Amino acid sequence: MLLIASHEGRTGVPRTVELLKGGAGGLEAIVEGIKLAEADLDIHSVGQSSWPNLLGELQLDAAVMDGNTRRTGAVGAVRGFKHPVAIAYAVMRRLDHEILVGEGAERFAAEIGAEKNKNETDHSARAWKTHMDETLTEEQKRRFPGISLLDVKGVARDPERPFDTTVYLCMDRQGGLATAVSTSGWAWKYPGRLGDSPIIGAGSYADSRYGACACTGLGEMAIRAGTARSVVLYLKLGYGLRDAVREAARDLADLKTGFLDEVTIHAITPAGEFFVLDVNPRRAVKFLMWKDSLPSAEVREAENFAPQEKSPPN
Ligand code: ASP
Repeated sequence: MLLIASHEGRTGVPRTVELLKGGAGGLEAIVEGIKLAEADLDIHSVGQSSWPNLLGELQLDAAVMDGNTRRTGAVGAVRGFKHPVAIAYAVMRRLDHEILVGEGAERFAAEIGAEKNKNETDHSARAWKTHMDETLTEEQKRRFPGISLLDVKGVARDPERPFDTTVYLCMDRQGGLATAVSTSGWAWKYPGRLGDSPIIGAGSYADSRYGACACTGLGEMAIRAGTARSVVLYLKLGYGLRDAVREAARDLADLKTGFLDEVTIHAITPAGEFFVLDVNPRRAVKFLMWKDSLPSAEVREAENFAPQEKSPPN
């Protein structure tokens, strides 16, 4: 058994470890852990009290993938529910679709009786107000929200670096691989923006035959490079774990245009190996690792992707 979780997901790790030790299926165990991170008011990149969009609303993204069946479930831009990851899990189990967004996802959540919640808190409201006070002109403040958000979207940045989606990857007692991720995405995002987290193959991917991968950081880059699926495909093509992750890192580092920033790639294999690599590092990225020889999870540090590993210019 093996569990890798981003540091932002630490709150739920003991629960997931307990469930895995008890023989629970991997996906069930990681969904339960992420629910605790979503409910943690002190973690501001996931669930309640996380970063709002340009209108001050929390629009949350989440996804799950079962590596045994390659079934997935994802939700994007969901408002007003406490556990986006549980809604994503229900999409997988109860619909023939793989991804729901916006109002459709909220309708589905209500129909399955998902727990409603006012995710906006004093913290998120204060952070948004401070940002808008510093960003908008007096004229824009007077007319808000009846202004063009295009004029302010260029300043969209996460106020709290390090930023990080909650990502969990695991191998359960039966050897099945699974991923689950949940995030508020970037603070001050344009309303309706989806990051990599609800896009299966970009922010996460699991295939019990070859490996599983999940990303944190600038989702736009992972979307453009199809990072999570790439890592698993490189594994399928026979690359070792470290080489597969480095190859996907090279794909990211080779993106030449657009908004480029940090992406951290987390990956595991059915042989019980793990590797976490930080591309365009800004800071030391931590993650949690547990395997069945350990009583509890340990904090580890990701390796950095060395710039000289980039492909030559073309
Ligand atoms: N990947 C997430 C997104 O772009 C954000 C993060 O991990 O910090 O929505």
